[in-house]
Amino acid sequence: MTGMENNAQSTGFRTTTQHMLKTSKEYASQTLMGGLSGFESPVGLDRRDRIRALKTGDIGFVHSWDINTSVDGPGTRMTVFMSGCPLRCQYCQNPDTWKMRDGKPVFLDAMIKKVERYADLFKATHGGITFSGGESMMQPAFVSRVFHAAKQMGVHTCLDTSGFLNRNYTDEMLDDIDLCLLDVKSGDPDIYEKVTGGVLQPTIDFGQRLAAKGKKIWVRFVLVPGLTDGEENVDKVARICQSFGDSVEHIDVLPFHQLGRPKWHEMRIPYPLEDQKGPSRACKERVKEQFESYGFTVY
Ligand code: SF4
Repeated sequence: MTGMENNAQSTGFRTTTQHMLKTSKEYASQTLMGGLSGFESPVGLDRRDRIRALKTGDIGFVHSWDINTSVDGPGTRMTVFMSGCPLRCQYCQNPDTWKMRDGKPVFLDAMIKKVERYADLFKATHGGITFSGGESMMQPAFVSRVFHAAKQMGVHTCLDTSGFLNRNYTDEMLDDIDLCLLDVKSGDPDIYEKVTGGVLQPTIDFGQRLAAKGKKIWVRFVLVPGLTDGEENVDKVARICQSFGDSVEHIDVLPFHQLGRPKWHEMRIPYPLEDQKGPSRACKERVKEQFESYGFTVY
């Protein structure tokens, strides 16, 4: 995820042993109220079973989920925040999603049942399911199997990602993605590394793979004064977006804010942007105009 948000079928897929998975019937009657209510954790699984189930996607480690409107894609959406992220963005709002083991293991069948339950609402509002994080591409088997089931139900799918784990996704997995919210955290590789601790190229590669398949992309760019706001850096982001061609529907410029600071304090992690200010109106306007000069629609 960008770091500027604050989060709150088919059994034919099954490949793990029967004792691991409960009947889907149990989940159908459970209520959905956000957080992790309504999901029963596969307690009882030993470590080896969990690792195997994680690999096959029979379970996924989930931080939380919510139902929202027009935040993480079009229409009314169920956004699922997956646990685990390989990046360490200086402005991360959700450092509590960094470690996969801090999430709760959820059965694939349970997640698919949730989508099924809301399918009519999603269709009526042109909404759907969004996987966010953490990093949604860290658990590709689980996410792509839920997406595949969602597509079979006619439900819109959206992947919110940094693209850093580009190689985790096969071309076949890309087929079930309708929209990608792609964080281009910097256009300059050195700034990207400084901001995230990772490398930029996989994000570019992922965007270009999506574009080659004609997928829609909403680019997200977090504007941090003194860090990502340089004119040259913004130009480089714009040129990366150009390389995604017509796939880019718009660019969201997300102004840095300090809503995530308490989480860093609670977790006792040194927070690198302790005294960082958000961008001025003039800075936001300049960056917006810069992207617009490349022909992009900017929000
Ligand atoms: S560290 Fe991970 S979860 Fe946090 S903003 Fe960066 S990509 Fe998103």
